[in-house]
Amino acid sequence: MAPTREWLCGLAHEPLPPPPVTGGLDAVLLDRDGTLNVLGPGYRTLGDFELLPGAAESVARLNALGVPVVLVTNQRGISTGALTWDALATVHAHLVEQLAAEGAHLDDIRLCPHASGECTCRKPSPGLIDAVVAENRWIGRKRTLFVGDAESDEMAAKAAGVHFLGVASDLGLIDVVDSVLALWERPRSSTS
Ligand SMILES: [Mg+2]
Ligand SMILES: [Zn+2]
Repeated sequence: MAPTREWLCGLAHEPLPPPPVTGGLDAVLLDRDGTLNVLGPGYRTLGDFELLPGAAESVARLNALGVPVVLVTNQRGISTGALTWDALATVHAHLVEQLAAEGAHLDDIRLCPHASGECTCRKPSPGLIDAVVAENRWIGRKRTLFVGDAESDEMAAKAAGVHFLGVASDLGLIDVVDSVLALWERPRSSTS
């Protein structure tokens, strides 16, 4: 089923599917720009939106674990008028298609459309992460991982009390997912 415009814009949310009980993580939260897609000058528009190498495969590997994957992104262009909701929905529909082409999907999208200092959800504030936890009560903050490329991502994760791993030019999402897989195996081996 094609996602709705509201879902693509982070304005409507369904309950997340709980992961297998043997898993080591309840949820993985992913920043968008610079984590999933190339952080170039035109990344907000459809023509220049490009996934980073390994990004879709990384999401597919997380999907295969059964752990919910949630996009957590600041898009203040909405508040400044640089970005319309329609343009955002178009970019996110494209993102969802690109992921699907490699067997990957997002379980939810959380988005702050506000300008700096106007809200409690724009990263580095923890509001977007708090909302995921508040609306899915089985999620433990200590069993939640946030992956991002910016200091504001790390600060938001710290403020929300969830784990953080950073991606960088020499450490892609696929490398981070390898770490996730190691975490995932830990509780299984300790109970066997
Ligand atoms: Mg980023
Ligand atoms: Zn906000």
